[in-house]
Amino acid sequence: MQTLALWLLSGCGSPDGSGSGRCIGEFEDGRAYAFENGETYCEGDMLHDCEDGTLRSGASAECGGGDSDSDVDSDSDSDSDTDPDDGYNDSDPVKATPIGEGTLAGETVTDSADRWYRLDLPQGLHAMFEVLFRHADGDIDVSLHDHELVELQRAESGTDDERISAWNPFRNQTFYLRVTLFSGSSQTYDLRVVQTPLTHDEAECAGDACAELRQLPAAVSEEVGYFPDERPAYHFMRHELLQAFLYATRQVFLDVPDTGPLGVTQVGDWQGDIPGVKEGDQWHPDGTHTSGFDMDTAYYRTDGPNAGGYICEDDICEVTEAGGCYGGGIDYFCDSTSDHWVDVERMALYYGHFLQSRIIRVIGADRIVVGDVLDAADRLVDEGRMDGTIRNEMYGRLACDGSYDECFRAGWAFHVHHTHISTIR
Ligand SMILES: [Zn+2]
Repeated sequence: MQTLALWLLSGCGSPDGSGSGRCIGEFEDGRAYAFENGETYCEGDMLHDCEDGTLRSGASAECGGGDSDSDVDSDSDSDSDTDPDDGYNDSDPVKATPIGEGTLAGETVTDSADRWYRLDLPQGLHAMFEVLFRHADGDIDVSLHDHELVELQRAESGTDDERISAWNPFRNQTFYLRVTLFSGSSQTYDLRVVQTPLTHDEAECAGDACAELRQLPAAVSEEVGYFPDERPAYHFMRHELLQAFLYATRQVFLDVPDTGPLGVTQVGDWQGDIPGVKEGDQWHPDGTHTSGFDMDTAYYRTDGPNAGGYICEDDICEVTEAGGCYGGGIDYFCDSTSDHWVDVERMALYYGHFLQSRIIRVIGADRIVVGDVLDAADRLVDEGRMDGTIRNEMYGRLACDGSYDECFRAGWAFHVHHTHISTIR
């Protein structure tokens, strides 16, 4: 009776199978789980209770616990219980389709049944999931989840195909990929998994692989030192640039206690095009952000999370012959050292670690911030926390610390909300 009561309470459909529960996955022991309204979970048997993604008529599926949260198993918690009686192991609740490197062709997803895949990824390997489809025939979105099914990142572009990447520099880890149909009733796709070695601890790259584009992987924890602050579709860069970035942010995290992750804003698309081009727009000047040579990141900030966005007041606009007040009265430079929210010490450390890779051509930053970061680098050298040669390198690579007009003419406006890293071509 308890099962029946929970069943009716949860609204998962009636025991005679007349309900509307959807079959969306399978547990290790073969039981299906079905849900309605995206939050109520019931269990059944995948083989006998599911037909075409829904509960078969007369199915014996039952609700496992009147689940009222938004997790995917059948309990009432947030996927952190250790209840041995509910039959769900929260560290591995879904028996998704196991996958490895290679291609699964002709997969199908419908609007009533998501598809789940499971990849066991060894430590230090980067895995890119490519879900290849024609957008016009139905819009597929994908999300990447950790071993507890916590969502790490989403790819939901409005164009053909979705790509999303995983890694864990610290340990072997199981990742889950969820494929959802956003529009349309059914859609077919190919799922391709490409695995590549990717280290976190050195700013080195070897061989032809350095030139290949890699996608910034979803952050598995704050420990990695970064977080995606833009759609994954615009997070492609040369392998060596990605490694230098991963090294730099990880080192800042280790250097300074309580360093929050740094946001990665726009880099390039998977074919090396400038972000926006495939959407009929171009968000960076000609010759930049192409072929994976450049990336934009946020600044380390003193006023909150290290996300992209203005790092000083934007209400003071100087009229200049170079065309200041660009954009209708918006000022694209900071005006004084006391009036910005950049954590200059962390920025000096970040640039310093980046410059150890020897591939950095030039770094774009706000002209006021540049001066303050160089002062911070001087202090770090005095304190023995930075090598003098790295500090000197920073002086040569950071542009532009000139006047407002000089920096505007040199093309270094617009770094009032992000910093730009450019590598040697
Ligand atoms: Zn840029």
